Parts: sequence; structure tokens; C-alpha cells
Amino acid sequence: MLKIEHLGIAVSNLEESIPLFEQLLNTPCYKTEAVDTEGVKTAFFQTGESKIELLEATNEDSPIKKFIDKKGEGIHHIAFDVDNIEAEMKRLSALGFQLLNETPKEGADNKLICFLHPKSTNGVLIELCQEKR
Ligand code: ZN
Repeated sequence: MLKIEHLGIAVSNLEESIPLFEQLLNTPCYKTEAVDTEGVKTAFFQTGESKIELLEATNEDSPIKKFIDKKGEGIHHIAFDVDNIEAEMKRLSALGFQLLNETPKEGADNKLICFLHPKSTNGVLIELCQEKR
């Protein structure tokens, strides 16, 4: 894994959280993007080499809605940048980590992504992401 690509933070109201994080990080939100297949709207901020991704649920079945109902707003996942997502998925699966999708899927911000089940990672939802090329 190359670096922490971004931290995902679940928020109830993206419109309120964007200006808050712009002030906090002293940098403008550079992109908002809806990922319909995940039921989320996202907003991205660059912080040095890494990013912050805010996530708001866009429907009742969204994993972000379920997360906030259960735990409240807060850190939702850690995303690691990888060179070759398929090789990394194979490596982790062979070690017994539970992948939430069998093939890489389309994520926000021009990425191919895969999530690991938090049951196999001490309760932390891990996202692998590879820049699409
Ligand atoms: Zn993410």
C-alpha cells in the first residue's frame, strides 16, 4: 500500500459540512460527486498528500445512513492507495481478509475501489483504491 489516500467521514448534511471543513483545513472543496451505486454524495478536500472525503447518504438504503443511525457522524473508513488493485485484492483475500466486493468497482474521484469487511480488520472499514488509467 502506497499511502493513506483519504479518510472518509460520514456527515448528515454535506451543505453544512463543506464550509466547516473548508475553514478547518483552510482549503476549498475541489470536487463534489454523487456515486449513485453507493447511495452517497461525496465532497473532497486535498490535505497535503492525502484527502478528506465527506460522505452524505442520498437514500434510506445507503450504507452511510445505516452508519450514522448506528454510530453517529464520524470517521467511516480509511482508504489506501494501491498500484494494482486486483493484485492487492488477491493478496489480502489469500491471507483471509474478507473482501466486500469480488471485483473492483467504480468509486468517486476517478478510482477503482474495493472495501474490506471491518470484521476482519479490527472494526475499521478499509478501502483500497487505485487511480483509473
Ligand atoms: Zn472513500
